[in-house]
Amino acid sequence: MDFHLPDEIRMMRDTVARFVRRELMPLESLVIRREAERGLGDAPLIPPEMEAELQEKARSIGLWGIDVPEEYGGQNLGYLMKCVVWQQLRYSIVPFVLPPDSPNLYLLKQACRGDQIKEYLEPYARGEKKSCIAITEPSAGSDAAGIKTRAERKNNKWVINGSKIFISHARKADFIIVIAVTDPAKRARGGMTAFLVDKGTPGLSIPSNFAMIGEYAPYAIYLDNVEVGDDKVLGEVGQAFAPMQNRLSVRRMELAARSLGMADRCLQLMIEQANRRSTFGALLADRQAVQWWIADSYQEMEMCRLLMYRLAWRLDQGAQDFRLDASMVKLQATEMLQRVVDRAIQLYGGMGLSKELPLEYIYRVGRVYRVVEGASEVHRWVLARNLLKNGVPAD
Ligand SMILES: Cc1cc2nc3c(=O)[nH]c(=O)nc-3n(C[C@H](O)[C@H](O)[C@H](O)COP(=O)(O)OP(=O)(O)OC[C@H]3O[C@@H](n4cnc5c(N)ncnc54)[C@H](O)[C@@H]3O)c2cc1C
Repeated sequence: MDFHLPDEIRMMRDTVARFVRRELMPLESLVIRREAERGLGDAPLIPPEMEAELQEKARSIGLWGIDVPEEYGGQNLGYLMKCVVWQQLRYSIVPFVLPPDSPNLYLLKQACRGDQIKEYLEPYARGEKKSCIAITEPSAGSDAAGIKTRAERKNNKWVINGSKIFISHARKADFIIVIAVTDPAKRARGGMTAFLVDKGTPGLSIPSNFAMIGEYAPYAIYLDNVEVGDDKVLGEVGQAFAPMQNRLSVRRMELAARSLGMADRCLQLMIEQANRRSTFGALLADRQAVQWWIADSYQEMEMCRLLMYRLAWRLDQGAQDFRLDASMVKLQATEMLQRVVDRAIQLYGGMGLSKELPLEYIYRVGRVYRVVEGASEVHRWVLARNLLKNGVPAD
């Protein structure tokens, strides 16, 4: 057992940290203003030309294809590396992401066959194509097995009908991974299938975005007699449920990393303010309440960091089913973030609530994390169900 991050990961961590401080943090006030000004709309928080420039700069210092296999032109540096990168990037509130998005990459790597590799996986891995995943529906979110979108076989084609809500990045996506029911009798046990639906396919529409708390603007999607061939089935017919869950687990690990990055920022801000601000003739740093906020935050963050590193390490060792670990890491890290940012806001008082600082922005992002990718209660329920049935795992 070795608790040190390998040298190449530490070097990458420092490179990303420099990129964040030099390129992203100066853009924070712009992001805060654009978010406030866009109101109910979906205008991007980073202007597109600026985002393209940032992507170029990131690439020029080696930040690309981190978890992409070498055969698809990537660096294949693994999930531990990716977690460290995610964490560093989220030290800033600027919502800059390095393509490709790991969860869909994970799913495409597992499931693409034949021509799908050239048409979807390779351009996706190079960051040339964007995608999103459409699972949630008006009547089924946490209980994904309850979706109603139906794909039926007609004239050697699949005809998809249904509606999806809260689908992130749908308008930017070149293709959407749509989860539909192909066998209503079997559902999650052999009756759900994933389809690759290209932008512009007749019958596919993305009529509106949902105005939401925080930086989010997910979309509604309608599928009205959308026809696709067998070549658009991603993976096996009827077998989408388990790969979809593993894909969600990669996102859960990512949310944990991002939560840690934001918590790192909050803790740093807390330490600075506690050592600077005096009230009633004493520094806030000398008040026990403030000391405990700082001490508790640090301990909770370290516990989450270790859990996350262990999960990433297990994936890098080839773990095939990591759903329980991912539930635990996501649950702990997102709830930790809410406590830490809440303490930071309290420590800063009125300034903590203002848009002069990134804290209220982080607070709103953290609030979203407790619902998306499985609400906290669902993860507790899943963990309890497993422990009650199978007992405590050996290690
Ligand atoms: C910003 C944002 C982006 C999103 N992006 C996507 C996307 O890209 N693709 C996609 O498919 N979906 C997306 N979603 C949907 C998201 O995954 C769902 O909102 C989430 O799974 C919760 O489902 P729900 O909203 O239907 O809530 P429900 O399923 O109605 O649950 C509501 C609440 O009930 C409680 N609850 C539910 N089940 C249990 C249980 N078993 N035990 C105890 N309590 C329970 C929880 O507190 C939960 O918060 C997004 C949502 C948001 C807000």
